[in-house]
Amino acid sequence: MSGIRKPMRWVMIWLLPIIVIGGFLYPLLGYLVVAMVGVMLPLSYFHKRYWCTHLCPRGSLLDLALARLARGRRVPRLFTNRKFRWGVFFAFMALLTVCIVRSGGMLLGVGSVFVTMCLITTAISVILGIQTRRRAWCAICPMGTLQEKIWALSHRRRGRRTESEED
Ligand code: SF4
Repeated sequence: MSGIRKPMRWVMIWLLPIIVIGGFLYPLLGYLVVAMVGVMLPLSYFHKRYWCTHLCPRGSLLDLALARLARGRRVPRLFTNRKFRWGVFFAFMALLTVCIVRSGGMLLGVGSVFVTMCLITTAISVILGIQTRRRAWCAICPMGTLQEKIWALSHRRRGRRTESEED
């Protein structure tokens, strides 16, 4: 179960039901998504996808809940295509922006948008996970794509700094 016994993952996993169930009663819980992104992205600058492996509530849920349900089929090849992954990223961001604008930008409305997005993407990840592999969603997850990009940029920057120090 790929490290699901690690205590921190068990702590984090609870955030998912808190957001997708509790969020319908208390939309402000949707801002937990923003808080998580606020931790995840700076972390990826130093540790690539550490968040995905050790902390992500959805990743942990997929590992745990789909251990026996996933069919173990190959993830569609398209999911590894860079352009497709960035297409998913920009489509997701565009949808998120439209929903936030349509919510009127009010605190509760925006919170509801994050709750709904979290629910929809979790539902997609579970369906994909059952049909193929547990973490099939992670191949195209917009936050996974962004973490990899940040890591690549930080890596390049560090490489350049090392080169200039050597000069
Ligand atoms: S790719 Fe997305 S869903 Fe998967 S573990 Fe990373 S942040 Fe979570």
